[in-house]
Amino acid sequence: MAQIIDGKAVSAAVKAEVAEETARLREEKGLKVGLAVVIVGNNPASRVYVNNKKKACEAVGFQSYEYALEESTTQEQLLDLVNVLNRDSRVNGILVQLPLPGHIDEKAIINAISPDKDVDAFHPINVGRIMIGDYSFLPCTPAGVMRLIESTGTDITGKQCVVIGRSNIVGKPQAMLLLQKNGTVTICHSKTKNLKEICLGADILVVAIGRANFITGDMIKEGAVVIDVGMNRLDNGKLCGDVEFESAEKRASFITPVPGGVGPMTIAMLMKNTLTAAKQQAGLE
Ligand code: NAP
Repeated sequence: MAQIIDGKAVSAAVKAEVAEETARLREEKGLKVGLAVVIVGNNPASRVYVNNKKKACEAVGFQSYEYALEESTTQEQLLDLVNVLNRDSRVNGILVQLPLPGHIDEKAIINAISPDKDVDAFHPINVGRIMIGDYSFLPCTPAGVMRLIESTGTDITGKQCVVIGRSNIVGKPQAMLLLQKNGTVTICHSKTKNLKEICLGADILVVAIGRANFITGDMIKEGAVVIDVGMNRLDNGKLCGDVEFESAEKRASFITPVPGGVGPMTIAMLMKNTLTAAKQQAGLE
């Protein structure tokens, strides 16, 4: 039976580290840390995420600045706000909550955020830096996954790592981070053949598909570390992952639950990136 990886506990430890360093830098250097969170429209899930980010800011001692804009906001208006925030010295990190309404080009907005304040690490400059292993910020979800794997004491070097999903925000950067830790990495996607066979070879399996209970216990190697990034809302309102937990936990050595696994890590890593941004902008790093 697998040990459960407690994402709430690991994320609390990351936030405690950030809070401690934030308090120390405020006292010793007068550093204040600020995160701007921009939300456009009334997507209820986005509203929950933004509220959670604001709460996390308060908990670690950051100032948060919320900009809640009407659904009808134009791309030009949003670009103007991003440019104002790029120049605002109180703001160390800028987060534009995705998805944006269909009439706004997300790429144009991401590209407008100053790479130094791009705490989501979505800007092409930061993506490129991850490719060459010379980065300031790591994308929050893959970075959280790395921290969870680390918490199990697993050495990634030489391990067969399989990432299912190749999105720009999870799958692709996840594969790069595992590669940088000397894993032998395979990326799978919707056109992959023999998915079960490939999964059965995985010492470390990271699943980021967005399909409830898609990966079942019979696809998991005995003793594998299984990280479930998926967040799917069932008809009964419950959240569940991409991995069928009950069958998978019988085979894995470590497994993340949903909720309470990867989810809490994403916000903790956002706090860490924002502190890094503030230190860099103050010439402290
Ligand atoms: P996405 O952009 O929709 O990408 C999904 C990926 O899964 C795609 O690469 C797709 O392949 C692949 N895929 C789809 N069906 C497949 C199949 N049958 N077999 C193999 N691969 C398949 O999603 P995402 O943004 O990466 O998110 C993935 C999941 O993680 C979602 O449930 C999302 O809610 C969750 N998530 C959670 C967090 C968190 O904080 N916990 C953060 C981000 C995302 P193709 O490229 O071929 O289409």
